[in-house]
Amino acid sequence: MSFVVALTGGIGSGKTTVAELFAARGAVLVDTDAIAHDLSGPQGAAMPAIQAAFGNAVLRADGGLDRTAMRRLAFADPVAKSKLEEILHPLIRLHSEACCAAAENAPYVLLVVPLLVETASYRRRADRVLVIDCDEALQITRVTARSGLSVEAVQAIMAAQATRAQRREVADDVLLNDGGLDALLPEIDGLHQRYLELASAKLHAGR
Ligand code: ATP
Repeated sequence: MSFVVALTGGIGSGKTTVAELFAARGAVLVDTDAIAHDLSGPQGAAMPAIQAAFGNAVLRADGGLDRTAMRRLAFADPVAKSKLEEILHPLIRLHSEACCAAAENAPYVLLVVPLLVETASYRRRADRVLVIDCDEALQITRVTARSGLSVEAVQAIMAAQATRAQRREVADDVLLNDGGLDALLPEIDGLHQRYLELASAKLHAGR
């Protein structure tokens, strides 16, 4: 079974940036957000159940999920939010598990799970948990600059997510992403080396 490093962090902490740097060094990425997008895109495996649950009002012309409409609905109605999660979460788990299994020849898998702290099943699957930590003011600056969301909107998202302390509690490794990329690269090199060693030790222990 492949060695899996689960990567998590708050909104705008730098998960995607960091994950791509690990991928450039040979890690295979499995991104639960990308899987969720595929599942709810045109012809996505979750779309029949989503359409049955919420009707055509949440569909785009191409048959994919209208994320803005769905977000509005889920924000206003907690029952709709949990119904959507009941449809998507098991499928995301199934697909990410299949992607991890398919990557058995990879040096190791980096499984990107934004809501890792909130979902125990991914933690059980992970051999190692890497948390991307970042100053909260910097998270807000990055997300507002990138998305055009207001400071208040970003703060509301952050308030609904796990806290920095909760993430650090489940971490085996913490990568502080408060500086520029130059500061990050040696840290990533060091962690990558460590993951190669741990993956190799797991492989040999399994023989
Ligand atoms: P989200 O939770 O919204 O998916 P994320 O955690 O994946 O975000 P990124 O998309 O990697 O975060 O980073 C957010 C923004 O901050 C991006 O515009 C990215 O280019 C920038 N950024 C991340 N890390 C750094 C860094 N070390 N130096 C400079 N810019 C950075």
